[in-house]
Amino acid sequence: MNENAEKFMREAIRQAKRAAAKGEVPVGAVIVRDGEIISRAYNTRETGKNALCHAEIKAIHRACRKLGGWRLPGCEMYVTMEPCPMCAGAIVNARIVSVYYGAYDKKAGAFGTLFDMNAFGLNHKPEIVAGVLEEECSALLSSFFFELRERRKREKKERNAEKEKQAKEMIEN
Ligand SMILES: [Zn+2]
Repeated sequence: MNENAEKFMREAIRQAKRAAAKGEVPVGAVIVRDGEIISRAYNTRETGKNALCHAEIKAIHRACRKLGGWRLPGCEMYVTMEPCPMCAGAIVNARIVSVYYGAYDKKAGAFGTLFDMNAFGLNHKPEIVAGVLEEECSALLSSFFFELRERRKREKKERNAEKEKQAKEMIEN
């Protein structure tokens, strides 16, 4: 494994934390070329109101702008969660050389977990390194979803209490 993999994954984790702070599913990505980070991004699907706003797509978008072309030769991506089919497709299209991901995604992981984008004979196959700082990356996701469930429970309780109060008032009046 690239000796800097953990260092760059930590930067992706920092991006993921920025997503969580905005109430977004915490996924962060960075693109590295010649040992230098050339783009950083995090998931903004909710705040951007856009299905395309995954961390990987945004990071690719920024890297293409920076390098001035649709190909990203010599580029590596570090992303905290296994890319989905859309992002895996974008990674192949951008000719990214290697992808390092942290958490596995049973529901939509397209580089080995749900299926493997590299198994279809497409004209480019990125090298995949899975499970880099997996524990940290998964913990970010599970605590986010735990808090989300707790918040929903609390909100439901509050709504029910409000309804009860209104019903009581109607009876009393
Ligand atoms: Zn995606």
